[in-house]
Amino acid sequence: MDTPMYEKILQMSPCELTNVSYECSCGRTHSIRIGELIIERGAANQIVRVSEPFLKSKDARVFLVMDCNTRRVLGEKVEGLMKSAGYNVGCYTFPDHHLVPNAATLGTLLIEASEVRPTLMIAVGSGTINDITRYISHRIGVPYIIVGTAPSMDGYAGDSSPIVCRNNKETFYGHYASAILLDTEILAGAPHRMLTAGFGDIIGKYIALTDWKLARDVTGEYYCDSISKFMAGAVQKCVDSIDGVNARDPEAMKYLAEALCLAGMAMGLSGVTRPASGSEHHLTHCFDIDKISRGLDYPLHGNTVGMCTIVMARFYEMAVADGYVNYEVPSRAYIRSLLEKIGAPLKPQDFDIDRETFRRVLMTAKDLRPRYSMLKYAHEKGFLEKYADQITAEYYG
Ligand SMILES: [Zn+2]
Ligand SMILES: [Zn+2]
Repeated sequence: MDTPMYEKILQMSPCELTNVSYECSCGRTHSIRIGELIIERGAANQIVRVSEPFLKSKDARVFLVMDCNTRRVLGEKVEGLMKSAGYNVGCYTFPDHHLVPNAATLGTLLIEASEVRPTLMIAVGSGTINDITRYISHRIGVPYIIVGTAPSMDGYAGDSSPIVCRNNKETFYGHYASAILLDTEILAGAPHRMLTAGFGDIIGKYIALTDWKLARDVTGEYYCDSISKFMAGAVQKCVDSIDGVNARDPEAMKYLAEALCLAGMAMGLSGVTRPASGSEHHLTHCFDIDKISRGLDYPLHGNTVGMCTIVMARFYEMAVADGYVNYEVPSRAYIRSLLEKIGAPLKPQDFDIDRETFRRVLMTAKDLRPRYSMLKYAHEKGFLEKYADQITAEYYG
């Protein structure tokens, strides 16, 4: 008998998984529709080929979105390639060095895009540029392609955008990119804090996947073993190539980029955010909201996720030692050693989080989402406060 697809995927790279639909051992049919995912040296050179299917009509127009950094890195090149191919190309470059995905940014992009009335939008950038282009292209009803410039977050292959609005950070569902081009050489040249952020977002999956198992065991929540294994495999590959990531070796960048894309795809396939986000993300979100509510800048998502992964690894470590649960979760020391090796920020103090905010977030992050997690479990079993106090003391004395 043929190997079923849910086993086959464990041997496949995310680039081969862009347009699949299969019945899984978990009882669900998993499907995903991303046009193309290309992760390789020189991937950006394929922009004309992947754009062509969307630009068949005579009055087709392309609208490029970038910021002043990504314009220099890859934007000018993409613009040049599209113009040389004879396409009608409009372009907007955000002047900001630190662009925030908020209502003002979306408004600007909507005004600029409406003037061009594009047939296709092309985003050149990473987190924010991808999020806002996904949102606006979806709202105006045109496809978009992302040419990534940094392996900094797992949103390339997702279908949602976190937007700062109403004094909060809210998730809006949009559509998948019609093509994702990740040039490993360009990714390797990304600023260091973006590399550590991408790695942190991946390390967080250790906790996310364990929270998913906990939810399955305690509440009977839906769980997919094959998607969980698939995600864990990609995390492992990434961890195994940490030296290469440090050395900015394009091959190691490929594993990092694959794992980041796979996280988005695993959410798309399973229809739940579980494979990519657990209590480490809930903590991150609460720390971000705290900054936003005080009008402060919040740090790159994945760097906070990394720090919060250390915190949650400690939670699990203590819960295992006290006999509450019995999951194989990497120890706090191990997670910290990985993040330390890559030069990521490790402590809440590195994010200007004070003692009181830290403890409050540990106590309240469980209420952020209805989703079950170690924090909810700790609350139910009555050990949340004890652990929160102990971990706070470990960081702040
Ligand atoms: Zn499944
Ligand atoms: Zn994340």
